[in-house]
Amino acid sequence: MSSSSARTPSEFTNPNLETLFTAEQIQTRVTELGAEIARDYVGRNPLLLGVLKGAVIFTSDLVRAIDIPLGLEFIAISSYGAATRSSGEVRIVKDLDVPIEGRDILVVEDIVDTGLTLSYLLANLRARGARSVKLTALLDKHERRLRDVPIDYLGFKIPDAFVVGYGLDFAERYRNLPYIGVVINPET
Ligand code: IMP
Repeated sequence: MSSSSARTPSEFTNPNLETLFTAEQIQTRVTELGAEIARDYVGRNPLLLGVLKGAVIFTSDLVRAIDIPLGLEFIAISSYGAATRSSGEVRIVKDLDVPIEGRDILVVEDIVDTGLTLSYLLANLRARGARSVKLTALLDKHERRLRDVPIDYLGFKIPDAFVVGYGLDFAERYRNLPYIGVVINPET
């Protein structure tokens, strides 16, 4: 290894971030959620539907903690872009590749904030004739809720702060953090 690698600034120990949940805490909770989901869906071959891009890391870890047969799909819906506040506009950017009629759908989301995105998506999926549509979310920023969205399998409740890491971004940055942190000074 060259000596210059020692001087590379570390994104994972970025001083603008304060750890909210460590990688170990996340893995422990994801394992618990996976076991609970496996128990509830045994014999039902559920279709897990990850919401891109934020939920991609949570989805990848969660499916490996669910020890029953299941299907895996992804959907992309428009969200904040570079801003930190919800526009309230929801649009499907990449739709499902398979029909979901008669399937037990479990939507996998990173965070429920206002609930606008999820209330639209869950209604849209129900209208396509799924047998059931449930939701798992890693984080619940419940103080900011504008639409009631029942979370069937929740990782953690969090306060009203902008969080990044483990798939969550701030202007497309920080998705690769192995932990979840709060941005304490977004200007620098
Ligand atoms: P909602 O429609 O307001 O519930 O927004 C949900 C989406 O907003 C999430 O899937 C995230 O993409 C994004 N979002 C909300 N809060 C945060 C946050 O604290 N950090 C990063 N993304 C967030």
